[in-house]
Amino acid sequence: MRVAPSELATQPIGEAAPVAEGVWQLKLPVPFPLRFVSVYLVEGEDGWTLVDAGYDYPPAREAWEAGTATVGCDLARDVERIVVTHFHPDHLGAARWLGERTGAPVCMMEREIPFVRKIWSSSDAGPFLEYLARNGMPEATAASATAVVRYALPLPEEIFPLRPGEELTMGEREVRIIHVPGHADNQIVLHDEARDILFAADHLMLGITPNIGLWPESEPHPLARYLESLERMRGLGADLVLPGHGPVFRDLDGRIGELILHHEERLEVMRREISDRPKTPYEVSRQVFRGTLTDHQRCFALTETLAHLDHLVLEGRAETTEAETVVFQTS
Ligand SMILES: [Zn+2]
Repeated sequence: MRVAPSELATQPIGEAAPVAEGVWQLKLPVPFPLRFVSVYLVEGEDGWTLVDAGYDYPPAREAWEAGTATVGCDLARDVERIVVTHFHPDHLGAARWLGERTGAPVCMMEREIPFVRKIWSSSDAGPFLEYLARNGMPEATAASATAVVRYALPLPEEIFPLRPGEELTMGEREVRIIHVPGHADNQIVLHDEARDILFAADHLMLGITPNIGLWPESEPHPLARYLESLERMRGLGADLVLPGHGPVFRDLDGRIGELILHHEERLEVMRREISDRPKTPYEVSRQVFRGTLTDHQRCFALTETLAHLDHLVLEGRAETTEAETVVFQTS
């Protein structure tokens, strides 16, 4: 039996809907195939906590204005804090604007703060381009992917640190910060233990498997870290999962099982791809991720492939050699 979506939060993109006592989901548009990112508005005695900021472009700003007005949150006066779950531009992008619009502090995991300052200010895309090319991506694709994946993103002047294990008080709600590396090295989720609610960001979603990629700046072995983060969440006691994309759902342990199985299957598909001869990660990604993809999506397909090939090496099921380009083959 596959995990099913809940009956909650079926509102159109651009609108807010209640998902629990004092918690609303607002679907913000994004200008890419995911179509929307879900942010959460949590009411508290001292003001509202906003979980994630969305992608910064005019339709999302309009949805912020309209969505908060619907729930009775005055953006200029009523926001206590903004929590950003990880560095990706569909979550962090609008944080600077939202921070200025609300006057509220923007908070991220402590280790994410120097990381975002570095990654979103880097004007030197050279090493990233080389990384893609070394893994077999044709130069023209690599150049166009680099232009859309690495750019300067305006950040809040000040970002306040959150620490794993720490509890945030949101009205009568105590929400614990859990560090779950994998999709991003410093991905956090928020767990309301008393109400069994998990603000899952991009760690666990339904209908979409989070991108687990090996990027030049990634800490080693992202897939191993992701699988370990998933295992740690088993039995957490959350019967409502509020993800960053896709439908809201209830069966946390069921979805953990599905995601682990998905990666096992994908590892086996990749292993078969490199069983006849050595292949570059890009060649493998073209076989595994078929169809017409944008250069941006080709880049994510490549890093996702790399994370799996790296995991096969870690498990002793494959070997890699690096000359001008990197190749993998079964051992
Ligand atoms: Zn993300």
